[in-house]
This record gives sequence, C-alpha cells and structure tokens, in this order.
Amino acid sequence: MRDIFSLSVEDLAEFMMKIGQQRYRADQVYEWLYKRSATSFDDMTNLPKTLRGELSQQFNMVPMKRLTREISSDGTEKFLFELTDGNLIESVLIEHSDRKTFCISTQVGCPVKCAFCATGRSGYVRNLTVGEIVYQAVEIERCLRGLGGINIVFMGMGEPLLNLENVLKSIRILNNPQGRAIGIRRFMISTVGIPEGIRTIAEVVPGVKLSVSIHAPNDSVRNKLVPLNKKYRLNMLIKSLREYVEHTGNRISFEYVLIEGVNDSPEDARMLAEVVSGLPSYVNLIPLNPTDSEYRRPASEKIRSFHKQLEERGIEAFVRIERGGDIKAACGQLRLRHVKGG
Ligand code: SF4
Repeated sequence: MRDIFSLSVEDLAEFMMKIGQQRYRADQVYEWLYKRSATSFDDMTNLPKTLRGELSQQFNMVPMKRLTREISSDGTEKFLFELTDGNLIESVLIEHSDRKTFCISTQVGCPVKCAFCATGRSGYVRNLTVGEIVYQAVEIERCLRGLGGINIVFMGMGEPLLNLENVLKSIRILNNPQGRAIGIRRFMISTVGIPEGIRTIAEVVPGVKLSVSIHAPNDSVRNKLVPLNKKYRLNMLIKSLREYVEHTGNRISFEYVLIEGVNDSPEDARMLAEVVSGLPSYVNLIPLNPTDSEYRRPASEKIRSFHKQLEERGIEAFVRIERGGDIKAACGQLRLRHVKGG
C-alpha cells in the first residue's frame, strides 16, 4: 500500500485522473491532509463515499505510530515514532521565546558514523520515505495544534544529503501554499558536507538555509570525527560552500562540537578561523553532550577561551548548550535507549 503523505498535489491529481476523477478532488484531499488535519479518509466528507473507499484501499494514511512524547525540564520535547516496518525514529521540538524548531529525521540510523554520535554508533538501516519525513511534521503539528512561526530543520537522525531526493520532495510538499505553506526560508538542512548535494540545494531550493557540521579545523582531526571527510576533504567542502553562498546569498551556520583534548586548543581555534574566514557565516560552538563515547566535554574555561579566540579573529560565534539533556535529546539517544530496552 502506498503512503499518501509521499504524494505531491500533482501526484494526487495524476492519480485522480487515472481513476476517472476530476483534478479538483486532488486539491480537496490535499486540503484535508494538510489544512484540516484529517486522520482517516472517512473524515473527508466532501468526497463521494466510493472515492473514499478507493483511496483507503490504495493508500496508507498513518506511516508511523507515536510511541512516546517526552518533555524536558527546559521545554524541549522529544518524540519517538515506530514506522510500519517496526523501525524507530525520533524528532525533537525546541521552543524558543519567539519561534519553534522541529528537528526532523531523514534516515533510520546513519551511515556517516561521526565518532561522538549515538545515531552513528547504532548503524544504518535505510532512508526514510518522503511520507515518513513529512508525517513527522504533520504529527507534531497535531500535538501543538498549529505550526505558527515554525522552523523545520533536517537535523535529526541521518545525513539528509544522502537522502536528498526525498528531503527535497518533502520540502516541496510542506512548502506548497495549498498545503502547510511553510515558508521556504523556514527550512534548514544540516549536513556534514557533501559537495554535490550542496550544489543541488543551491540550484533547486536556494531559499533553504544550510548548516554545516564542520567539527574540526583540519583534515586529520576531521577524518577521525567525521569519517566522510576522507572522501570529501575540507577544501572540497569549503569550495562548494563558496559556490553556495555566491548562488544563494545565504549565510552559513557552522556547527562545531567542542571535545576535550581533540579540537579545543587555541591552535584549533586559529585554524578554524582561517578555514571559515571570508565565508558569510557564524559558528555555533556546542560543548559535547557526553554520551557513552570515549570523548569528554571541555572545562568551561576552555570553552570560553575558544569562543574568545574566534571572536578576536572577527568570526561571529555562539556557545550553544544542547537542550533536552534530561530526555536524551542528542541525536539518536532516545531511539538507542528503546532499542537497548531502556
Ligand atoms: S552526527 Fe549526524 S551525520 Fe554524524 S553520525 Fe550522527 S546523525 Fe549521522
């Protein structure tokens, strides 16, 4: 059975024509799905009963079941979903004073295997379908009763650029004015940096912002932390980012996980400033959220000093303390706990 949330309104129109219905029926279904929060085809009361029956035979309307919703003391919420094949994924909702951010997953597990990441350690299973990506936003919206001021960040489990076709289609669906109509500038894709994917984003969805998990100031450290760097070296990544900035005019957000004794020295800060200089960007410094890996978070003094060194070199930088620590909101940790049985 196909998953209806994987379909664009054009796909639905094609389906309607194929079964002898008029095009406007596709618009009606789309409106029920994205504006009227229908949870079954029977809810779609302006469709003929026979059409509702046909749709329910052809399409699945619930590609995943919400297993848990945990709320952290800082207001961060974490959702664990079970997919129809039994796999588990998670999404995180972060509330700021003026907006909300959804962190959405794009893969079950992740093949990139960053050294400090729980998802990376759990292995890779498969790409999510378009419907499984879109439905995370739809379901969380139901919990919130509205998506006012929402930002969608592809920053949950998985590397979005390794599932780019489905990510781009899910953006088109959520952005469609006939549906959820989330503004294109409210989307951000977070990647470790795959140059050809970055070029595609610049060409196809130039309004979408980019966050790059750089995590290291040179290839030798980055090879250890982000093994994909062995294939896409830092100079290749930076070249593709220069092209992205030229093409889109967007600033880049760099993410840098600070790890004690690995990438937190004054020399690391100097090299990092050199690597990102000249690119319209800012750096988010994220002191490592210790999981059960071998790595540790640097002392506060070290974090402050790294931050200062960047600023003294003219690099805009912020220290971001990861939120939701008490519900294990670092990527992949909630799923891991369930897979391991708690
Ligand atoms: S940090 Fe992101 S890209 Fe790296 S292994 Fe984890 S989920 Fe994958």
